[in-house]
Amino acid sequence: MSAAAERGGSALGLFVLDDRLTGASGGPRLAFMYRCLRDLDEQLGGRLLVVRGDPVDVVPRVVEAVGAGSVHVSADFGPYGRERDAAVGRALAVDLVRTGSPYAVAPGRVVKADGEPYRVFTPFSRAWLDHGWRKPADTDASTVDWMDPADKDGGPRRVKIPDDPATSAELPAAGEKAAHDTWAEFDVEHYKRDRDRPGVDGTSRMSPYLRWGCVHPRTLLADLGHSEGAQTYRNELAWRDFYADVLWHRPDSARENYNRKFDAITHDTDADARDRFDAWCRGETGYPIVDAGMRQLLAEGWMHNRVRMIVASFLVKDLHVPWWWGARHFMRHLVDGDLASNQHGWQWTAGSGTDAAPYFRVFNPTTQGEKFDPDGDYVRRYVPELRDVPGKKAHQPPEVTGYPAPIVDHKHEREIALERYGKIK
Ligand code: FAD
Repeated sequence: MSAAAERGGSALGLFVLDDRLTGASGGPRLAFMYRCLRDLDEQLGGRLLVVRGDPVDVVPRVVEAVGAGSVHVSADFGPYGRERDAAVGRALAVDLVRTGSPYAVAPGRVVKADGEPYRVFTPFSRAWLDHGWRKPADTDASTVDWMDPADKDGGPRRVKIPDDPATSAELPAAGEKAAHDTWAEFDVEHYKRDRDRPGVDGTSRMSPYLRWGCVHPRTLLADLGHSEGAQTYRNELAWRDFYADVLWHRPDSARENYNRKFDAITHDTDADARDRFDAWCRGETGYPIVDAGMRQLLAEGWMHNRVRMIVASFLVKDLHVPWWWGARHFMRHLVDGDLASNQHGWQWTAGSGTDAAPYFRVFNPTTQGEKFDPDGDYVRRYVPELRDVPGKKAHQPPEVTGYPAPIVDHKHEREIALERYGKIK
């Protein structure tokens, strides 16, 4: 807004409801996005212009109707957003200015001495720290003006921000103020100690706000001190920038194996595999930590990072289902669903991505549960059938009415996974 206003004195806030974005999102994600938009509209005093359609068609029509001198966007680095912005740029008679990015350091900027992109996180994160970042920009909503393009011939019609789609998920509060409140409540000093414990509220829960631009990572980075917790947290934000960078260099990795050697892995995709996949989606695998995670996803549109790793490993290595089935399910339900972090989080687990977990590392869902949820609190919170199973026993429950027996035998499936992965090592 500020950059746009600097050029011409005032700016018009525009959001295009693009069916390619809304059509690919599940209820919780869309509801969260609409709530963020309503919050933004409120901050702009009801002056956010929302139109529906293909951005390549509607943005030039808005520009013409209101006589804008330039169009400013936050640069998009995903495969679709990049192409869309380039196509909008070609369709415009005025400049399309990419002002900033949703990252601390924009993809493509941190490269090796020979100009090649990094393929491994640790050297990337060192170079990322050395590169540094600008101060967070100040925002000033007072420069936002109001003009209605529908007043002119050919100008697109303003639409109301849609009502929330039906969802039973209990979502976090949306918008910029909620982002700042959530950040203020976060205790970074205990982050290193607690971040791997899903039963404890030890992570920041900032991911939905970062995903939808309610807060900029540089604002968080500027607020972090130098404690151990702060350093660990900075490192996590570096992962976010790293995966965006990897996807920018390799847009094909959104859909395909980053390491093409893994194309040779055999997957199960028959009707039995589909049934097992459906049980995983519902949180009915008979492995408590997996079921708790999958039910948290459905109930809140969010899942703890440690549990994301466990459920992803279970799908890929115990059920032998392609990682992209799971990635698609996550993207439909996660309010923080982000193509770069999601597809590469999945590929890390599947072994086909950057910094891949060694293929012989197959998480045992029971011991993972016992280690990271030692009191069983997380499992009991999301799996009510196990409510009366005390402590750690929740991870190896006795037969409990209404709770399924394990759908596969982990030891047996582990052997199958090792054999399949072993063939391509
Ligand atoms: P915190 O622990 O408080 O971390 C702070 C921030 O650092 C996060 O908000 C996030 O922006 C970033 N971050 C932390 N860990 C990672 C990571 N491994 N990769 C990239 N960024 C990270 N994160 C998403 O934002 N969107 C996704 O769609 C997504 N899908 C994932 C899928 C799988 C299979 C896995 C294993 C991880 C995925 N992650 C994703 C990463 C991570 O799980 C979430 O960022 C984290 O759980 C968000 O919770 P938080 O904000 O409390 O995290």
